[in-house]
Amino acid sequence: MAGVTASGSHVPTIDLSTTNPLAGIESGGDSYENLATGGTPNPGDSAVYQRLWQPGVARFEDGLSALEGSEGTVAFASGMAALTAVLIACVTAGKPHVVALRPLYGGTDHVLATGLLGTSVTWVDADGVADAIRPDTGLVLLESPANPTLEMTDIRAVSDAAGTVPVMVDNTFATPVLQRPIESGATLVMHSATKYLGGHGDAMGGTISGPEEWMVRLRQVRALTGGLMHPFGAYLLQRGLRTLPVRVRAQQTTAALVAERLVGHPAIARVLYPGLPGQDPQRLIGRQSSGAGALIALDLAGGFDAAARFTEACSLITHAVSLGGIDSLVQHPASLTHRPVEASARPGAGIVRISIGLEHANDLMEDILKALEAALGDAVVDEAAGDLAAADASASALASAPAPASDAVDAAAAAAAASDAVDAASVAAAADAGQVASVRALAAAPRSGSPLSSPQALEKNHALSLI
Ligand code: PLP
Repeated sequence: MAGVTASGSHVPTIDLSTTNPLAGIESGGDSYENLATGGTPNPGDSAVYQRLWQPGVARFEDGLSALEGSEGTVAFASGMAALTAVLIACVTAGKPHVVALRPLYGGTDHVLATGLLGTSVTWVDADGVADAIRPDTGLVLLESPANPTLEMTDIRAVSDAAGTVPVMVDNTFATPVLQRPIESGATLVMHSATKYLGGHGDAMGGTISGPEEWMVRLRQVRALTGGLMHPFGAYLLQRGLRTLPVRVRAQQTTAALVAERLVGHPAIARVLYPGLPGQDPQRLIGRQSSGAGALIALDLAGGFDAAARFTEACSLITHAVSLGGIDSLVQHPASLTHRPVEASARPGAGIVRISIGLEHANDLMEDILKALEAALGDAVVDEAAGDLAAADASASALASAPAPASDAVDAAAAAAAASDAVDAASVAAAADAGQVASVRALAAAPRSGSPLSSPQALEKNHALSLI
């Protein structure tokens, strides 16, 4: 491990220094200028001050660059700090217009809709990108799969439509284990590292990966605005990279089983999961990504009231914001993460999002089926009880499911986390060999006119002002 073996340690050391000794006035000043304008330290130079550069953060950045196949990565205090840096860089380059594809994470939607950072936004779908580009467009932004309803977007098609305008893909949901957007034509890749990269719900972070020319601009924004990642966070996030492929694959396998089992449940109008039949019409899984991921969303037939009963009845699955960790979380996007989104673009009142963790599928099914009974309220039917037995079948299927044949991904992640050089092609090949979700489930039969449907009870909850 570069720099770690040399230190005599088995794991990276955490350097907490906020300041670093300078060899002399002139060399110290030169180092300061280099770092404050987005450079990286030359061999033998002082790192000067933690806000300018930090070795543990750089180690995490190098690891993620190897996984994403990017020239570089710049890490920030959170995903929102990372997005902020990109938007500031666009504004200062005289390109404040953003073309954005909904749905996006609610915080991202919120910062664009408010124009808080001096940007303006045109909302489009993938077909509208080319027509929305203007001379002052600095960025095209998309998520795939998108938060919270898991729509997938053809990154190659959007990149072609964007021409010379950089496309940034928020890859938080897919992770580089399943999808490497730069290979599909994107210029920048964003992560809320708080989610899968860390994987344990105990470290905040955000990253932007891309060409060195962008990295210089972003390091300068970070140095001047101070949205830096703490060295201990960088340590935890780098450690997360080492288990990322194993976690993502295991969580995805369980998510596919759970999604399959829930199709047709009387409390659910629609199970949203890109691995289910009919939910990847462009066949992006296998072409752009190697799997559907580990998030599922349930559109509950009983609308808001059913969603409220469902989330409150979950017990193994924690009712909490966030995702991507080893323990499963459930949340109601329309009243939480996507609360600030304008009503016409807000997720439906009946939608709950579940981030599947590393628990046993049988335990998760039991929790979900119990919560679905609560969601049904007075309309409890025998079918729900029958599905409990089916949970056992799911669990045994999981136990006997073949392990995805992708040891190379693990090796690549371990090497990437160690900051060793990684052959990008081998990571890509390994990811392809990883897993294309093959969910055999029946297509979800959308239910309309459910007797449980309630009026848009949510509207009263959306008094949140836009800053
Ligand atoms: N992007 C996505 C897809 C997210 O889900 C989130 C947070 O939930 C963010 C960005 C923002 O990241 P953070 O909470 O680390 O600032």
